[in-house]
Amino acid sequence: MNAFTGCAAAAIGLVTLVSAPAFALDIHGQAEQGGLVSGRAAAGAAVYLDGAAVPVDPAGRFVLGFGRDAAPHAEVKAVTPSGKAEVREIEVKPRDWPVQRIDGLPQEKVTPPKALLERIAADNRAIAQTRESRRAVAEFLGGFALPVEGAVVSGVFGSQRILNGEPKSPHSGLDLAAPTGTPVHAAAAGVVSLVHPDMFYTGMTVMIDHGLGLQTVYAHMSRIDVKPGERVAKGAVIGAVGASGRATGPHLHWGASWLDRRLDPETLFALTQP
Ligand SMILES: [Zn+2]
Repeated sequence: MNAFTGCAAAAIGLVTLVSAPAFALDIHGQAEQGGLVSGRAAAGAAVYLDGAAVPVDPAGRFVLGFGRDAAPHAEVKAVTPSGKAEVREIEVKPRDWPVQRIDGLPQEKVTPPKALLERIAADNRAIAQTRESRRAVAEFLGGFALPVEGAVVSGVFGSQRILNGEPKSPHSGLDLAAPTGTPVHAAAAGVVSLVHPDMFYTGMTVMIDHGLGLQTVYAHMSRIDVKPGERVAKGAVIGAVGASGRATGPHLHWGASWLDRRLDPETLFALTQP
């Protein structure tokens, strides 16, 4: 029995040795504007997207995000610790983005008065700083789920909003309308990376860092149940739906980002395990 087991193990070892490529760079999923793909390189490899280093976990896992207006082609390069390089071209599918008009907003919320500009700049700095996290751990392997149950989608990612007739930045998330007080759940496991009680645009705001540069944001809440640095499981209640900040009614603005790029949260559901 021992001899037989030994032979089997030796045979499996030989097969692995023969069939394993010298070096593999795998990309999973179809890249599209506002979307993301996952990938795997050799353990210990450094990975670059269009020349910029991306976060990679020790096993070689990484994700790559593409903004709303991403170019149609991207280049991924992996370099092993011994210096061997492999390159893949990625095709990024274009998407059509809708136009949404919202009228009747208080004018001071559409064109903020000068006195508020410093507060808005401080909010933006806090969010940008949070997005710089490059924790080399994939905490989202259990996948993503909608953060509000039974919600109605009232706004989609990428739409160009025209507020009181003025064209604004494209909408950066998915709006999920639900009554004030409806629980908000963590879309995936991670660490709470930002808690803010009153941002000008997004009101009560929480961000969760899922690792490898991937984060989600939860805005306009009426209650926050978590603290910065707290580890949350997928589905954990982190607060409640509200209308704080710039909101015309109770809803969760749910956003996603990879490093400094805004992503369409709806593309998270199709993310393949790296
Ligand atoms: Zn929104």
